[in-house]
Amino acid sequence: MEFIDTLFIKYMIIFLSFLRMSKNRLTHYLEHPDRAIVHMDLDSFFVSVERLLNSELHGKPVLIGGSSDRGVVASCSYEARAFGIHSAMPMKMARQLCPEAVIIRGNSMTYTKFSKVVTEIIREEVPLMEKSSVDEFYLDLTGMDRFFGSYQIASELRKRITHETGLPISFGMSVNKTVSKIATGEAKPNNQMSIGKGNEKGFLAPLSVRKIPMVGQKTYQSLRNLGVKQIKTLQEMPVELLEQVFGRHGRIMWKKAQGIDPSPLIPYHERKSISTERTFERDTIDVQRLRSLLVAMTENLAFQLRRGNKLTSVVTVKVRYSDFNTHTVQKHIAYTSADHILIPHVLELFDKLYNKRLLVRLIGVRMSHLAGGGYQINLFEDNEKLINLYQAMDKVRNRFGDRAVIRAAGKEAKTIGMMSNPFSGDPPMLLANRRQ
Ligand SMILES: [Mg+2]
Repeated sequence: MEFIDTLFIKYMIIFLSFLRMSKNRLTHYLEHPDRAIVHMDLDSFFVSVERLLNSELHGKPVLIGGSSDRGVVASCSYEARAFGIHSAMPMKMARQLCPEAVIIRGNSMTYTKFSKVVTEIIREEVPLMEKSSVDEFYLDLTGMDRFFGSYQIASELRKRITHETGLPISFGMSVNKTVSKIATGEAKPNNQMSIGKGNEKGFLAPLSVRKIPMVGQKTYQSLRNLGVKQIKTLQEMPVELLEQVFGRHGRIMWKKAQGIDPSPLIPYHERKSISTERTFERDTIDVQRLRSLLVAMTENLAFQLRRGNKLTSVVTVKVRYSDFNTHTVQKHIAYTSADHILIPHVLELFDKLYNKRLLVRLIGVRMSHLAGGGYQINLFEDNEKLINLYQAMDKVRNRFGDRAVIRAAGKEAKTIGMMSNPFSGDPPMLLANRRQ
């Protein structure tokens, strides 16, 4: 008996040390990895697509965006950037800076199509990729170097994309996402750059702190007030000081400045979707009620997309009748997360699907073919006022719950629960489901 006890303890010790070892290994992998992470970014994407369609735009300063005085620059060519113009700038100001610029309203459906063609090419070549926006991708080529060399794979992929689509694209490669993204920025336009393992800190040191992806205008101002301009200064500062000023973000920023970023890729699944459906206690034929519920559902899902910094490009409406026959119809649309664009699509699908003679048992809405990204893609349809309105509405929703702001048409929909962010890794909620 004693023998067995000793044996058991022995095995337990081996087992526990194995556990500890694999945990150390995981930490080691994430913090000092031999990873090969590539960040690819299409150069001034919207402008490049417009130039494919109209070669006269080559070499000219081009602005894409709303042309009204309240419009915003969604994308601009490198020739326009030379005048100090940048995206998200009010169009009025851009026009003052460069009166000869060609202004194009833009077409989000066309850009969505090209975005998907590029996505497909990357997906064919690389098993693990993240689509972080309509024109940006992260690829994990770790382990592929044994066969061909990861840098060579990335270079050939870049060539293939430009050859097949006519669109210029740049990439940066390193051991993690942050350094690769910054490297892409340094390589642009239409070029590539690799930061060898161990050179992350040296590569970042001379660059402006503004180049760190998490440093926005506000953080940049605070850093400037502290006398910090170059990443080198951040690297030499005690992490505690940054924590005092910026809290938790201070430590992350400090780590990024050192070239450390353990964040993993979020794999791209075309089928990934968010959805919501409602079964009625008593089957209904009340069209007004059904339509108003669809509006509320769409608003809810759109809000969750925006909160997760996501865009959808396929909407699906589902109707189940009292005889349990279920019908769905879907539509490919331009990438968006805006209620005022999504609602008409959903209602149009419902009108197409709905059989007026039958009682409805269930209705549902799904949004799929998601990509990362914020409002940019709709900027030329929207204007500053509309974007500000969305941001204000979402702020209220974040504080007081989803029902705090609701369109008049959606008022009749009764119970919609408090939502958490479906992309944050929290468990799915009652109404909206996340599907892999
Ligand atoms: Mg781009």
